[in-house]
Amino acid sequence: MRGASPPHPPPGGEAAANGFYGAYGGRYVPETLVPALDELEEGWNDIRDDPGFRLELEQLQATYVGRPTPLYRTERLGGDRTIYLKREDLCHTGAHKINNAVGQALVARRLGKKRIVAETGAGQHGVASATVCARFGLECVVYMGSEDMERQKPNVERMHLLGAEVRAVEFGTRTLKEATSEAIRDWITNVETTHYMIGSCVGPHPYPELVRELQSVIGREAREQMLAAESRLPEAVVACVGGGSNAIGLFAGFLEDADVRLVGVEAAGAASLGSGRAGVLHGARSSLLADEDGQIADAHSISAGLDYPGVGPEHAFLRDTGRAEYRAATDEEALGAFHLLAEREGIIPALEPAHALARALDLDAELILVGLSGRGDKDLATVLGR
Ligand SMILES: *Cc1c(COP(=O)(O)O)cnc(C)c1O
Repeated sequence: MRGASPPHPPPGGEAAANGFYGAYGGRYVPETLVPALDELEEGWNDIRDDPGFRLELEQLQATYVGRPTPLYRTERLGGDRTIYLKREDLCHTGAHKINNAVGQALVARRLGKKRIVAETGAGQHGVASATVCARFGLECVVYMGSEDMERQKPNVERMHLLGAEVRAVEFGTRTLKEATSEAIRDWITNVETTHYMIGSCVGPHPYPELVRELQSVIGREAREQMLAAESRLPEAVVACVGGGSNAIGLFAGFLEDADVRLVGVEAAGAASLGSGRAGVLHGARSSLLADEDGQIADAHSISAGLDYPGVGPEHAFLRDTGRAEYRAATDEEALGAFHLLAEREGIIPALEPAHALARALDLDAELILVGLSGRGDKDLATVLGR
């Protein structure tokens, strides 16, 4: 475990040198993982500003991921409000997860790691990991709760086609929390050969910062596109929050624009920020769903991607400082927004960003930007009740 928190982290959302955002973040891990986290941090610091790395990442973003993704002005959705969507649903593999996976594959290659372990909930990060492992010739093992394997069968089949091994996790709630614990256990055992490709801005330092940096391309593009389209910034930027990576990536573009409201939307049954308390989960201190004894409580959401009792430490910090606000949306509200977007705009969203849409539709603002983090193909069985 690492030192005390500094009073203020540096501006721009980077963690302080010891990995804390205010009181949140850090490294709460067994000693065996500390050298691997140091190695990752050094490797990342070496290449993040390396022109060769930047060029290769930008080329992959342009030719493989499909960036920049469009900014779309909705036609019939908003009523009196003007709502723009940042279309991460049009990324290769159908969600923003690939932005992070491509970047981490480059880091793993630089570190000489030939084997990747990953956790997945809805399967989108598992698919993104399996995809980049195929592209880079890396061995890929994905841990997934057996409950989620049932809920998200098409993504399990995709991972198999991409050459990944999917290992079922059979304990606890058999969802993302347990899958993450298993992936970390595997990493501890195989740390010499293996890179842990974490799927959100959670986990021990430097992961929250690394994932945020790789997802911040969403916010950089969106800010430029918004200025080009409207000659002004949005009044509010809204994104769904599971672990928080698509939200922090979008917020990153607007963090220093004090007039722009940042609104994160959690699932009502997994509101780690709205109804959580400070504690440690999966290697970092953050805001968690837990009882008074610190026992982690089970999260519940119709959307497997939001079904996680923790959240990235930077979000807990932004909540406490008041820079961002966090709301909740129920399963029913998300389903309502899901159908509305399909019927009014011809876009079938993933259930996760449907939570963000639901809150955007009753927000007291006129010009709103919503992060559409993924597409709904994976959720058809859930929505249709099959
Ligand atoms: C995984 C996922 C999320 C939740 O993860 P974050 O790290 O909070 O972004 C949201 N939307 C989609 C489409 C996802 O696949």
